[in-house]
Amino acid sequence: MRKILVLIIEDDPACCELLTAAMLEAGRVVHAATTLAEGYKELEKARPDLIVLDRGLPDGDGVKFCLTLRKDSRYRTIPILMLTGRGEVEDRILGLRLGADDYMVKPFDMEELLARMDGLVRRNQPELAGGSGRMQFKGIVMDLRGRQVLANGEEIKVSPREYELLRIFLENRPYIRCLNGRRDL
Ligand code: CA
Repeated sequence: MRKILVLIIEDDPACCELLTAAMLEAGRVVHAATTLAEGYKELEKARPDLIVLDRGLPDGDGVKFCLTLRKDSRYRTIPILMLTGRGEVEDRILGLRLGADDYMVKPFDMEELLARMDGLVRRNQPELAGGSGRMQFKGIVMDLRGRQVLANGEEIKVSPREYELLRIFLENRPYIRCLNGRRDL
């Protein structure tokens, strides 16, 4: 199966390097750009499965890029995860209203970012299903291609709604871990 191609548009070299390293380790193919103009060029070279887009770029606001893509039938359906140093609520709302699919504020947790990226790609292209096509949490395994759920190696029957709920829980496993770690709960 082909690997997921991620286009990173980020002008901070340290952040770009960190993102690239984490994504390569997770088995993704990475193309990187440091300006909006370079981002457009990369798009023409190869259609990414996901774009990680910074907002504050040397030649403009990432929101502009988002708007342009959403108006272009060739790129309209590519999921965009916006990454930004601006954490104000109104900035997040603006990003999402103008066509981003998800939004994360720096400094971000890499595991959470990867989980959210997987979620976006999976929703958009289920056949790519996060590389392995399987998600696991403790004894529970979901086989996304076969739409099968295994508990300790045994297949269990689930309704379509239960399947979707379980998928959401497993996609958000970094949060589950956070909650587990909270002793006051
Ligand atoms: Ca920036």
